[in-house]
Amino acid sequence: MRRFISLMYHNLGSGQENRYTVSEATFSQQIRWLIDAGYIVEGFPELARRLVCQDIPSRYVVLSFDDGHRSNLHAAEILRSTGAQATFFLTHDYCRQRADFLRDDEIKDLASLCSVGSHGLSHAPLSRLGMPQLRSELAESRAWLEDLIGKPVTTFSAPGGFISPAVLRLAWSLGYTMAGNSVEWWNEAAVVARTRLVNRVTIRQGMALQSFIRAVEGAPSYLIGRRMRASVLGLVKRVVPLQQYERLSQSFYQAAAALTQQGRGDG
Ligand SMILES: [Zn+2]
Repeated sequence: MRRFISLMYHNLGSGQENRYTVSEATFSQQIRWLIDAGYIVEGFPELARRLVCQDIPSRYVVLSFDDGHRSNLHAAEILRSTGAQATFFLTHDYCRQRADFLRDDEIKDLASLCSVGSHGLSHAPLSRLGMPQLRSELAESRAWLEDLIGKPVTTFSAPGGFISPAVLRLAWSLGYTMAGNSVEWWNEAAVVARTRLVNRVTIRQGMALQSFIRAVEGAPSYLIGRRMRASVLGLVKRVVPLQQYERLSQSFYQAAAALTQQGRGDG
């Protein structure tokens, strides 16, 4: 059965403020490695077309960016310069209210280079919302993007990985055709063709090229390590309020980073 990994990025930059901010040099090196190693790098619409024709290449990576940081436009330019593609999932309120996120004209430029999908209106955890708010997060964010870029928007990614069968049922009924989660695991092409849900491995700040390669190749030791971390955090996610979860998750990450620096030196 054909399997592939999907990678999730957030922001390019040099700041230390966000553990999901990757330097431009690191990002360029990672994309260059993928292309040189013979990987086809694409976004969600390209994956959807390949699933229909059952045409997933043996070396295949699906790439996406979440949130809509302003640096995403430059990331798209880097990707296109190598012939790679990606999908950028944008959050309405971030782009409308925060200075370091994409403005309308930049979103239009981005959509001329790569595909764009929804990452909700407010970045609220979708699976925790009541039906009216869930509908508004999914439908209004899609309408905003379609009006802006003048193209259909049929994909979304779940903020914080909060997704459920109810979220997916509503999304499909509203016209979405594919979604990204935050489960760091392989994708089996036949399973994604059926569920239309893509597992995504998060790329973090300070990740050595060797770790990146292990992630892309789906090394069991890498993915199982990520899943163990996710199951601890998933348990915490279910029982504590969201703001406390964000704080705990940050502490967990810092403790894990300190341990790995003492040990294998990967992250
Ligand atoms: Zn997000």
